[in-house]
Amino acid sequence: MAVNELYQYSLVNALMSGVSESGITAKQLIEKGNIGLGTFVKMQGELLLLDGKVYQLLAGGKIRIADDTDQIPYAVCTRFKPQSTETLTLENKDSVDTVLEKFNDHASNLFMAYRIEGRFRYLKCRTVKGQEYDGQPLSELGKKQFVAEYDNIEGTIVGFRSPSAWQGFFVAGEHMHFIDKDLKVGGHVLDIADGEVSMGVATIHQIHFELPTSEKFNSAKMSTDDVGLKSVEG
Ligand SMILES: [Zn+2]
Repeated sequence: MAVNELYQYSLVNALMSGVSESGITAKQLIEKGNIGLGTFVKMQGELLLLDGKVYQLLAGGKIRIADDTDQIPYAVCTRFKPQSTETLTLENKDSVDTVLEKFNDHASNLFMAYRIEGRFRYLKCRTVKGQEYDGQPLSELGKKQFVAEYDNIEGTIVGFRSPSAWQGFFVAGEHMHFIDKDLKVGGHVLDIADGEVSMGVATIHQIHFELPTSEKFNSAKMSTDDVGLKSVEG
């Protein structure tokens, strides 16, 4: 994988159909990029790839470093090299999109990756609690996620923006995961207020897909549930 190419394993629609029993290993993911996000087997928490380490952000606010052999049923990553880095204030979550637009307003149908470092006056994150039965769809898990709010917290956000037409393959729009400076808490970012940050951005136009060959993936009935996806990944 060259710099600023996107690698993705499986599809968000597969998670929506509950396909999450196996995947590539953490070791394999690290070879594909240096920043990324995803989830673990049975959707046990959120995944964050940061500087060659794969973190499992668990419900309850705990974090563990994944073993090389941990399996990953869904992930997206890139070998990130920012094309622009700026110091700025993020008033809210939508400000991220404003920054991306300012950097490149001809990328509506392209992908973008970003890395944000700094201090946030307020941050709201969620972590999925994991499947309670085999094949439980992600849309159902969204109703029982762990949500935490943090005041005055320092850390890193890794994010991707995907075009709206790719909903279901990716999460359309912004998708970002956070980890704090001390690597103690983190999750899927729901809300941001007043971030004093440094933000690196890159436009992506090369995409590599790897799809599972498992029987579960093969037999899953997949369709794009836009409303469901927005409720769980918004
Ligand atoms: Zn997420």
